[in-house]
Amino acid sequence: MRISESKRLFAEAKNVIPGGVNSPVRAFRAVGGEPIFIQKSDGAYLYDVDGNSFIELINSWGPMILGHNHPMIREAVVKAVEDGLSYGAPTAKEIEIAELIVEMVPSVEKVRMVNSGTEATMSAIRVARGYTGRDKFIKMEGHYHGHGDSFLISAGSGAITMGNPDSPGVTVGTAKDTLLAPYNDLEAIERLVKANKGEIAALILEPVPGNMGLALPLPGYLEGLREICTREGIVLIFDEVMTGFRLAKGGAQELFGVTPDMTTLGKIIGGGMPVGAYGGKKEIMEFVSPAGPVYQAGTLSGNPIAMSAGLAMLHYLNNHPEVYAELALIGRKITEGISKINHDLNLNYTVNALGSMYSLFFTDQPVVDFESAKKSNTVLFGSYFQAMLKRGIYLAPSQFESLFLSTALSDELIGKILTAHEESMREIHG
Ligand code: PMP
Repeated sequence: MRISESKRLFAEAKNVIPGGVNSPVRAFRAVGGEPIFIQKSDGAYLYDVDGNSFIELINSWGPMILGHNHPMIREAVVKAVEDGLSYGAPTAKEIEIAELIVEMVPSVEKVRMVNSGTEATMSAIRVARGYTGRDKFIKMEGHYHGHGDSFLISAGSGAITMGNPDSPGVTVGTAKDTLLAPYNDLEAIERLVKANKGEIAALILEPVPGNMGLALPLPGYLEGLREICTREGIVLIFDEVMTGFRLAKGGAQELFGVTPDMTTLGKIIGGGMPVGAYGGKKEIMEFVSPAGPVYQAGTLSGNPIAMSAGLAMLHYLNNHPEVYAELALIGRKITEGISKINHDLNLNYTVNALGSMYSLFFTDQPVVDFESAKKSNTVLFGSYFQAMLKRGIYLAPSQFESLFLSTALSDELIGKILTAHEESMREIHG
């Protein structure tokens, strides 16, 4: 595989951009080698600056649920551009997308648009604090909620990939209000609640975490959290930046039938444009300025181009519920294929999968939380990543990420992915 132009660009980028990239995991640090610079994308494929093409299993970290550069979304964006790029004033499109989100996501009665998942989670915590008059919140080890200061404590995704789950620059004062619990452990939550009685504003989690690799909630876990939060007056926040509109049109909360008080969303609502949102119960969202006293704002929030992309995406998903069965079938074909190949090669590795999300862990132990995810052999993952890349399959460049599938993956492409998987597994196991 020729990568000379990517190499040249990376060297140039490092002169003017920290680490050569605008988001850390893109640097391929955890998997060795250097990043591939992308020229364009279409359908199931990424095309790089050296003329290589790759079948996509990340899809811009989630949003490209229908594949890249989908004509319907592209046309919506192009049409919107004709009317100008930004007004910083209200538009009818913002009402339309809010109504659609309220219709689709069970917990959301009112919603505020922002520009990233990071903004959504930071704002949601502030509102929960304002609403309850309490300071502390509970976060799960290995879950990632963007790069807001109070979340960079035992954080997953790029933070753990780069070896900085607790980032320098976060003050002790900030960190002391973030209480940590292991995922899937209700007893740990009960202990925290008892030790901090009446002081906890919120409990935030990825209901189905993807940022320590994919793990699933144990039966009764989400229901248990709901019960504790209701009993203790704690605002339960589902961070569905990854799972919203992906696992079901109403996200993990619809799939598992557990309704949080607030929900954070991102990525998919923008159809590829920079968008996030947070919403929830009316009485909580009424605390947001200018309805209420909790300040939160954004010059580009509700941007007309981003809203047009999002509307095209959400209308499609709302009107085509069959997409979720289609995505789940694609997921099953790939993950069952991977498990069978591993079995035939006498490799007993854990595959966690749900709908169109999955992770292959290089451990034979079940992965249910951060501790068990960290048992994965990340050196072997790095070799697997490179072996797949060489064969034209683009995976997330870290063990601690979920993969995201799109409807653009035909049976023929799934066959290619599985062939590459088998060859890669043989190669890295000598
Ligand atoms: N929450 C979750 C669950 C995420 O996966 C992410 C990003 N992957 C974020 C929040 C932050 O979103 P953004 O990168 O758009 O700031």
